[in-house]
Amino acid sequence: MSKHTNTSESNTSHLQLNLQTALSQPTRQAPQYIHTVQTPIYRASTIIFKDTDALNNRHWSDDYDYSYGTHGTPTTYNLADQIAHIEGAKYCLLAPSGLSAINLVNSALLNTGDEVWIPDNIYSPNHDHLVALQQKYGVVLKFYSPTDVDSIQFSAQSKLLWIEVAGSITLEFPDLATLIKKAKAHGVMTALDNTWGAGLAFQPFAINHSQNKDEKLAVDISVHALTKYPSGGGDILMGSICTLDKQLHLELLRMHALQGIAVSGDDCAQVSRSLSHMALRYQQHHQNTLQLIRFLQSRAEFAQVLHPSIESHAGHQHWKEICTTGLGAGIVSVIFKAEYQLEQIQQFCNALQLFHLGFSWGGPTSLVMYYDLKAIRKLPTPHLQDGWLVTCR
Ligand SMILES: *Cc1c(COP(=O)(O)O)cnc(C)c1O
Repeated sequence: MSKHTNTSESNTSHLQLNLQTALSQPTRQAPQYIHTVQTPIYRASTIIFKDTDALNNRHWSDDYDYSYGTHGTPTTYNLADQIAHIEGAKYCLLAPSGLSAINLVNSALLNTGDEVWIPDNIYSPNHDHLVALQQKYGVVLKFYSPTDVDSIQFSAQSKLLWIEVAGSITLEFPDLATLIKKAKAHGVMTALDNTWGAGLAFQPFAINHSQNKDEKLAVDISVHALTKYPSGGGDILMGSICTLDKQLHLELLRMHALQGIAVSGDDCAQVSRSLSHMALRYQQHHQNTLQLIRFLQSRAEFAQVLHPSIESHAGHQHWKEICTTGLGAGIVSVIFKAEYQLEQIQQFCNALQLFHLGFSWGGPTSLVMYYDLKAIRKLPTPHLQDGWLVTCR
């Protein structure tokens, strides 16, 4: 027998097995010394315990207690570690989509009567989930203006503050430092949707603020739609929830386990593989967007071009202060002059040859989507012109 003959073969080789049983026994285990460039892919629902001690001593909060596919495998934990590293967090949970990650935060933290504050430019499915929690469980939903921290009046019931940097579609850049300070002063948890920054434009757990250059601020939770830049392919859905605080992580992990949230090893391996060039892609998206902005600004059809790097943009100063990298993601929105009607906006979208009509962003294909701002926003938006909005991303 060769010295490479593995144990499972020698354990079963003396048995008279029928063909199907024989083919269900793996013949090889990876030896310790095999190192590959990419993470090995573990696919698992069942994970086989070494013995009864391993079964009985496992603990739900221990990453290294591999016990079942929903709990995780080395492939999924590898990706979670990478995302925590990018975001400057200590802990990371994975979910099957960005929206699923958002929903986990909402359902783990909010109880009946708790107030949750959301910006008026929030990613709209997050808003819709909170409306459902309001209707079913009596969570109280409050809106604030992303350009005005004073529009938040916390009460004793305030539990969670959602922040988006930059906000969805209209890309206002909020006063992130003041929002975090205000929430902390009232004992309110902060959850950032960090999909736009992707952990590259700024560090959500080490945020600059002008009052004190040495002090860094941190959100409590950073949620990231890995579907966008980390995947980079327009073909994988996934989300993450990052934290610094162990107790908070365990609270989220408990709900994660109870809800049976799990991700596929194949998908995790694909995202891990894309992470090595994510920063390069992000920078290129940013550069391309700056070029596109110059073109859009030269066109008479548009009443307004929206991007945090534009000096007149709502929150431009905050962007400069917080994104010391000078980076912003690859999204720019335009508001058409009010004289353009819906039919013309649709003609515009249909006539584009390289920008396709579709949701999501951060992939290899340029996309557009059109929106009626009046139908989405609840609060006044004096900083925005009237007219149909088209995002390019
Ligand atoms: C896309 C997106 C999400 C949701 O991610 P999915 O994986 O598509 O569910 C959440 N927040 C923001 C800001 C997004 O752009």
